[in-house]
Amino acid sequence: MIRMAGVDKFFGPLHVLKDVALEVPKGQVVVVLGPSGSGKSTLCRTINRLEPVDKGTIEVDGQPLPAEGKDLARLRADVGMVFQSFNLFAHKSIVDNVMLAPLKVRKTPAADARKTAMELLERVGIANQAEKYPAQLSGGQQQRAAIARALAMRPKVMLFDEPTSALDPEMVQEVLDVMTTLAKEGMTMLVVTHEMGFARKAADRVVFMADGEIVEDSTPEDFFSAPKSNRAKDFLGKIL
Ligand code: ATP
Ligand code: MG
Repeated sequence: MIRMAGVDKFFGPLHVLKDVALEVPKGQVVVVLGPSGSGKSTLCRTINRLEPVDKGTIEVDGQPLPAEGKDLARLRADVGMVFQSFNLFAHKSIVDNVMLAPLKVRKTPAADARKTAMELLERVGIANQAEKYPAQLSGGQQQRAAIARALAMRPKVMLFDEPTSALDPEMVQEVLDVMTTLAKEGMTMLVVTHEMGFARKAADRVVFMADGEIVEDSTPEDFFSAPKSNRAKDFLGKIL
């Protein structure tokens, strides 16, 4: 579903992605781990072309990433993204936030968009919050709304970049539960997270990045019980 090969990315003189190769087959959940500044967010952002790359190829569902225009809008619809900050529109109700992209981008009729939005809010467990505004929701509820909003475009793959890092501890699990359910339903997912429980339980593979490189790519069992590189051992020593 996602295929990256030979990807290099620079920010000025800074080499942030170094010859990155990564495949996420349909239905797989890949968790990306690594120290701060290792390039995890940049990796995510190249996949829906929020960041152009300097070298290499990226394909989503067999199609090379488009450069611009209509095709780029289609790509962004196919690749749902959930960030650390929820980025909901403050002046729109929760259900309106979830309906917005289908209305504007897909030209879905309003009644259909609302029906789908309510179903998605039901799925993430906040249908009863639909008419409220983002500021009236807890962080965990807002993040679940953000997930519903991304799902409203019926994406082929979902990217999560530290979706629980900005949350109070007691709200982390409710968001992880929604993500675990999505994973079980067969969604293709690339997840940057420090939640090792999620990585162990939900990931098919763990990819460890350090200094712009993919250093390890293995099953969660292998990664956590027998990391191969010193950098991964070091990282796990600090985090576990
Ligand atoms: P964290 O765990 O802290 O979120 P990360 O692994 O997601 O880190 P990135 O955000 O991808 O790391 O950053 C990789 C490197 O690129 C860092 O050195 C960062 O300072 C740099 N960087 C990221 N975005 C930009 C930018 N827009 N301009 C210049 N440098 C950037
Ligand atoms: Mg990051």
